[in-house]
Formats: sequence, C-alpha cells, structure tokens
Amino acid sequence: MIQAPKGTRDILPTDSYRWQFVECKARDVFSRFGYKEIRTPVFEHTELFARGIGDETDIVQKEMYTFQDKSNRSLTLKPEGTAGVIRSCIEHNLISQNSSLNLYYITSCYRYERPQAGRYREFNQIGVETIGSNSPYTDLEVISMAALFLKELGLNDVEISINNIGCQECRPKYITLLQKYLETIKYKLCDLCKERMYKNPLRVIDCKFCNSKKFFEDAPSIIDEVCKDCENHFEKVKKGLGDLGLKYSIDSKIVRGLDYYTKTVFELILTDENNNKSVICGGGRYDNLVKELGGTEVQGVGFAFGFERLLSALESKKINITCNDNPQLFIVSIDEKSQEFTNKLAFELRKLKIRVGIDNNGKSVKSQMRLANKLSANCVIVIGDEEISSKKGKLKIMQSEDDNKEIETDLDAEKIAELFKVNNDYN
Ligand code: AMP
Repeated sequence: MIQAPKGTRDILPTDSYRWQFVECKARDVFSRFGYKEIRTPVFEHTELFARGIGDETDIVQKEMYTFQDKSNRSLTLKPEGTAGVIRSCIEHNLISQNSSLNLYYITSCYRYERPQAGRYREFNQIGVETIGSNSPYTDLEVISMAALFLKELGLNDVEISINNIGCQECRPKYITLLQKYLETIKYKLCDLCKERMYKNPLRVIDCKFCNSKKFFEDAPSIIDEVCKDCENHFEKVKKGLGDLGLKYSIDSKIVRGLDYYTKTVFELILTDENNNKSVICGGGRYDNLVKELGGTEVQGVGFAFGFERLLSALESKKINITCNDNPQLFIVSIDEKSQEFTNKLAFELRKLKIRVGIDNNGKSVKSQMRLANKLSANCVIVIGDEEISSKKGKLKIMQSEDDNKEIETDLDAEKIAELFKVNNDYN
C-alpha cells in the first residue's frame, strides 16, 4: 500500500472543519485591521529563498526541497511565506512609498526536517506582511493583531516574547562581540556552526543542535548593543504593548532563524498541560528585504503562525469548535417511486440553502434512519405513497428533548425551508 510521504499529513473530513474555523477567524480578524489575502505559487526560483532567507540559514542550508525542472531550472518548494509575497509585490508594482500594503496568506510550506510532534515536512502557515512603514506603531499593530487572533480563537494565556536585533548600522559591533564569545566555546559547536560563526554568527544561536545544548547562556545580548535609533524604536513598541494591555517579556536570545529580520523580532508561545512550550508564531521587522530582493528601499513587518501548532493548542486546551455541516433534514424514501420524489424535493431544498441528506442506494427505512442519526440530522421526513398523494408529511425533530416531537408540513420546498428559517431548533 502506498502511504503518505514521511512528515506529511492528510486532513481528513472529520477534521477539516477545524481548519476552516481557524481560517475563517484569521480572515475575520485580519480584515478588521485592513489586510487582504495574497496567494503566491507553491514553488519559486531557488535563488529567491537563498537571497531572501539567507545562504547561511538552517532553512537554506539543510531544509529546502529543491529540484531541477525539465528545463534545468532550479526550483524550490516554499519553505516560508514571506519571500514569495515580497517577490510578488515587487513584480506587480504593489508597493508604494506613501501607504502601507497590508497582506495576509494561508499557505502550505515545505522543510526537510526531522518529523516530530509539531514539526512536519509539509506544514501550513497563516501569515501577514505589512510593507511600507518604518513606524514602531506598525510593529505594535502587527503584534497586537496576532495576539487578538489568538484571543478570539480562545487561546488566552499566550506569552509574547520580544527582542531587538538592531539594524545594519549597529549589528556589526555585536557580531564582533558574539564572534569573540563563540571562539571561547568553539570546541562545543557542531561542524556547521564552526564554519558559520565566521560567515554569519547570528545563525549559530538558532542552530537547533547547538541551541538545545544551552551553549549560549552566557553569550552577549544583542539588545545591549543596539544604536540609539533602534533603541528608541523598541521603546515605543514596548510602551505601546503596555498601553494596549498586552503582557510581554524580553528575551534577548530570540534572533529568529531567517536573515532578513531587523529591529523588533517576536514570538508567541503557548504552554501545554505538560508544561511544554511551543512557539506558535514568529515574526518581526525586515527593513532590508524588499531592497535585497530587487525592490525599492521600503520596510516591512510580518509574522507567521504554524497552523498545525494552532490546532493542537486548540485541542489541548479543549476549545470547542462547532461544525454546522450536519444535514438539517434527512429525507427517507421507502421505495424507488418515493426516491424520485425525494430527489426532486432534496434538490429544491438545497437550492433554498437547506442542508439535506438522502440515500441513493436503496437502503431499508431502518438503515436510512440509522444513517440520519449517524450524520446527526436535525430532522427527518419519511416519504411513501401516502405522503406523495396527500403532499403532506411529518417532520420529526431528532434533536428535541421530546422524543416524539413531530410537526405536519406541506411537502413543498418553500414551506419546509421557511420552517427551518423561523425555527432555530431545527438548525
Ligand atoms: P518560521 O517561518 O520558522 O518563523 O516559523 C513560523 C511558525 O511556523 C513557527 O512559529 C511554527 O509555529 C511554524 N513552523 C515552523 N516550522 C514548522 C514545521 N516544520 N512544522 C510545523 N510548524 C512549523
């Protein structure tokens, strides 16, 4: 039997409504902040990610699904959402200097990682990018939007961790300090980090292998080394978070695994019942990425939520997600003649926006009733000769406390649909 590739998952019909619920909430919250959806291709030229995410990052060095197409182009399945969005905005001239472009995306991403809980090779991200503002209030708005999204999903006890990783002006000074520190612990680092500490030492800090060994506890903090401009920017973000009543903590070890970030970086962290922490969202400001990818000098801020991690948080916090896709009405037909009548009535009702279940396979009345129950149908009507000739039927309310609650109705689609519209019990 052929199975799904390692690190991928099927989203089954019993689960897809949970995905739809989260997607709807994202669209709802983001649209209140003036964000519109963008969809970009699943694969891009490899160079986009090498330049955008950074040659020395774990993603580019170890995790990309890269392949040659039949014309020998090097293409890569997107490992994250931002680079493709920026590429698209530049290509379609969407960016202007005087107003922010506010975008969100919901996309699958691909990283060749060791699959484990909360880490897949195909996973999904919900992200936003706002391009065209260097104001700290934009950082604030983006972080607050992420927090509100979680709150409206019912995930209240989220930790917001922020850091300031400086800009191109002040970072070189820190890099020198960090390199000096790394020299002292070089013998402990993995082979790749021994090389990276000279080319891009910041990336050593988010190496999954070295970081998990707590090698960096005494490393110098970037936040202590930033310039006045970066410091002022960060102060405004912090004050704004306080003013909005959003609790945060400063974590000077957050550098994020992508090269494009500058100034504010942040993570939203949830703790499960076993006290395991999971970074559910990561983001920050990127002041040079647009230019780096061939656009004008314009700044951006964004974040990405891991969709799978959001869903497992909803599950572990036992947040109830209701699903309104059970049949409002199941029509049982007793024989082939009534089946023809049923098919017509069902089609008319479906046109009137009622969810109707029927059986097309000649099941017995008893099996059809069992099916209606299994599908959690709200009401059932049985159609036989008598109902067809009198054009009247009995609508049995299944979800009612009174087991025998039935109401007589004309077998007319408009009349039945009206009953569903006026009576919430049946919906
Ligand atoms: P990043 O693009 O690395 O900043 O990741 C943003 C978010 O995507 C993280 O906070 C995770 O929630 C999620 N994420 C990243 N990598 C994976 C993965 N391999 N599997 C599942 N979720 C992931």
